[in-house]
Amino acid sequence: MTLRHLTHFIGAAALAGLATTALAQDKVLNIYSARHYQTDEVIYDTFTRTTGIKINRVDADDAGIVARLRAEGAASPADVVLLVDAARMATADSQGLFRPFKSAKLDAAIPANLRATPTADGVTWTGFSTRARVIVYDPLRVKAEDVATYEQLADPKLKGLVCTRSGSHPYNLSLFATVVERLGDEKGEAWLKGVVSNMARAPKGGDTDQIKAVASGECGVALTNTYYAARLLKSDKPEDRAVMERVRIVFPNQGTGGTHVNIAGGAVAKHAKNVANAVQFMEFLSSPFAQEYFANGNNEFPAAKGVKVENAALKAMGGDTFKAENIPLAVVAKNMTKVQQMLDRVGYK
Ligand code: FE
Repeated sequence: MTLRHLTHFIGAAALAGLATTALAQDKVLNIYSARHYQTDEVIYDTFTRTTGIKINRVDADDAGIVARLRAEGAASPADVVLLVDAARMATADSQGLFRPFKSAKLDAAIPANLRATPTADGVTWTGFSTRARVIVYDPLRVKAEDVATYEQLADPKLKGLVCTRSGSHPYNLSLFATVVERLGDEKGEAWLKGVVSNMARAPKGGDTDQIKAVASGECGVALTNTYYAARLLKSDKPEDRAVMERVRIVFPNQGTGGTHVNIAGGAVAKHAKNVANAVQFMEFLSSPFAQEYFANGNNEFPAAKGVKVENAALKAMGGDTFKAENIPLAVVAKNMTKVQQMLDRVGYK
C-alpha cells in the first residue's frame, strides 16, 4: 500500500467515525452507465481517490438505463447518467429524465456543438468523446471518388451496393438528422429515398456486420462508426484484421461540411440527490487525464478542446487529421421525429 493509499484510508476511517447521514451522502455519487470499458475503472478510481467521493455504479445498456430511470421515477438514486449517441441523449431528455446543470468549466472545455442547447437553467447533456460515422467500401467494386460524400450514397452509380444497419438505429438517426439539417426537408427525404433504392439488401445487423459484409463481397459500400473499424484493426483474430485489409475507409464530406461525429456523453439525472458531485464528476471527465481513458477505452476521440489522444488504429485510418462536421448535435433532438417519419415514408427499415 502506498502512502497515498494509506492516508486515503485513514481519512476515510476518520470520516466514517464522524459521519452524519448528510455528510455520508455528500461523499457519494451514483452513476448509471451504458459504457463498460476496463479503462473507465481508472477514471472512477482516480476520481474517488482525489475527491473522497465514493462511486456506486449501475451498468446496463442504453435502453436498460432509460427504462430503469423511468421506472424508478423520483425514487431513482441516479446522479450521473452516461449514455451513447446524441439521439439517445435527446430521447431521454425529451422524456424528462435529465436535470439541467451549469458549469463554467464544462462550457470552456467541451465545444458547444457537442452539447444540448443551453437554456437559462444550463444544459441537459454534454459529450465526453466523439466517434465519426464513416463510409467503408470495397475498392474492387467502388471508386474512392464515388463515395467521397454521404450525398453520393444516393447516387444511382451505387445501385445495388449500399448496406446499412436499421435506419431507425440511433447512429443512423443522428447522422440523418444532420444530413436533413444541411440539405433541408425535401432534399433530405429524397436523399434517404435514394439510399434505399441503392441498397444491396434490407438493413440488418450492426456496424461490424456491415464492414464484414463489404469484405465478403455482399455489399460494396456501408456506414460504420470509427471504433468498430478500429476494433477490427486491433483484433487478436487474424480474420478480423483480414477484413480491414480487404476494405477502405473514407471520412466523408471532407471538401464540404465535414464528417458526421456523434458522442458518448453524460447528464445529471432528473432526481439526482448529489448534484454538486455529479457536476464535479463530469468536470473531471473533461480533464485531459480522464479524456485519454474515456476516449481510448472505446477507440474514440476526446471531446474536450485541445486534448489529443494517441490511438494507432484511428490514426491508421486517418482519424487524426479529418475535418469533423460542426452542426450542433442538438439538431438531432429537433429533427429526430421528422427523420423517423421520412424513413417510414421512403421504406427505410
Ligand atoms: Fe456502438
